[in-house]
Amino acid sequence: MITTKTPSEIIKMRDAGAVVRDTLLMIEEYIKPGVTTKELDMKIEEFIRKAGAVPSFKNYNGFPASSCISIDEVVVHGIPSDRELKSGEIVSVDVGAILKGFHGDAARTFEVGEVDEDKRKLIEVTKQSFFEGIRQARDGRRLGDIGHAIQEYCESRGYGVVREMAGHGIGRHMHEDPIIPNYGVAGMGVPIKKGYTLAIEPMITLGNPAIRINRYDGWTCSTADGKPSAHYENTILITGDEPEILTL
Ligand code: MG
Repeated sequence: MITTKTPSEIIKMRDAGAVVRDTLLMIEEYIKPGVTTKELDMKIEEFIRKAGAVPSFKNYNGFPASSCISIDEVVVHGIPSDRELKSGEIVSVDVGAILKGFHGDAARTFEVGEVDEDKRKLIEVTKQSFFEGIRQARDGRRLGDIGHAIQEYCESRGYGVVREMAGHGIGRHMHEDPIIPNYGVAGMGVPIKKGYTLAIEPMITLGNPAIRINRYDGWTCSTADGKPSAHYENTILITGDEPEILTL
């Protein structure tokens, strides 16, 4: 069931979104060679709690940290650890926070030190594909319009679109209906309505989009061919006009 948010719920969603936005702005300055992903996660948790919110990811289905930190070929769900960032890597940071009973969810991919042109362009295309997608996120359009726009933008440029992971509705729960694939057929799928709050999150690869999940930790999702991947996500509100981005 897809929930339509009331005006008072939307105010809470804006507040939760602002915490996530500020957390990602805060963490960017710590993304440097030599920092461990666990150190980044601790800063993220501290920042979210200081804002009076709770990290959504912590203990979600047993996830052991407050953020997902995914380096290079890791697409999503990287577990923070003692692993240090190295110059030339790209790192995706995905953060969720609950405030006053509502969630915000967003992700960015950052460059560590000096990054080559291929990775830089991958980050740029991934981010731009989000904006291409949300041009379709309007009352009266369909979910297939969003997915199609993201897929078309990326695949026409030679990038891969991960199929097994998708965006989602968000609100009182981090993951609500509907599931929002980053691919699709224009004009098909669930109709989009004013008052929906959605997390749109393209996960785009430099090579083949096939993924594999680490069988030992059950979380880490990497490209099967080992090539880099980027992630860009925001929580948005469907309005009567252009969507409002709650985490930017
Ligand atoms: Mg999400």
